[in-house]
Amino acid sequence: MSRVPVRALTMPSSRAPRPSPTDAYGLILEAIDVGVFRPGDRLVESDLADRFGVSRTPIREALQRLETQSLLERDGRSLIVAALDHNQMSELYVVRRELEGLAARLAAQHATEEEIRVLRLMVDADDQLVNDPAALARANRRFHKQIHLASHNRYLVQQLDLVHRTMALMATTSLAARGRGEIAQGEHHAIVEAIAARDSDAAEKALSDHISIAFMTRLRQDAETRESGRDPGI
Ligand SMILES: [Zn+2]
Repeated sequence: MSRVPVRALTMPSSRAPRPSPTDAYGLILEAIDVGVFRPGDRLVESDLADRFGVSRTPIREALQRLETQSLLERDGRSLIVAALDHNQMSELYVVRRELEGLAARLAAQHATEEEIRVLRLMVDADDQLVNDPAALARANRRFHKQIHLASHNRYLVQQLDLVHRTMALMATTSLAARGRGEIAQGEHHAIVEAIAARDSDAAEKALSDHISIAFMTRLRQDAETRESGRDPGI
């Protein structure tokens, strides 16, 4: 479950660049992330090659890499997008809350003034996206990644990358819940202000509270999905 993609971490940067496999991997991951492919969907090499205009070899390599990372699983001879069960989702959110909180604490201590300015610009720009859940979800990932980087702790960044990759296996974004986008943006502003004030405790609390609220939102979304699944007429 927690196998680390050793190849990705150890690939020497001096070797001649091979952009295609990385692109295919990134393209498929992005498609899972934004919900083009959902948990349970079958991924077929030739379909993916056509869709992304990439030859089959890099697609095959990307699929193998995604399977190694447990983002895809075997269903007979097919590869399908893995799904997280309720317990996995809960476990993931506990880890995410703690790691993101730590990232905010460290960012309050170590972020440069330029990084803080970039965070402010991002959060201001993202305010325009509150009615577009897919765009807001992408902006949300960029924003959180920027905080991870501002922690200036490479091991924490690696762990958070793994958590965020696994988050892609959730079928929906909590930002799609009614009113959540606007509230989440308010929380992002509070996080940035705490980091800018160099208040480690407040930054950690603001970010862990933000993740807790996202988790609660998702639990409510899942409950509603189960409900509508039982009563498809409504
Ligand atoms: Zn967020």
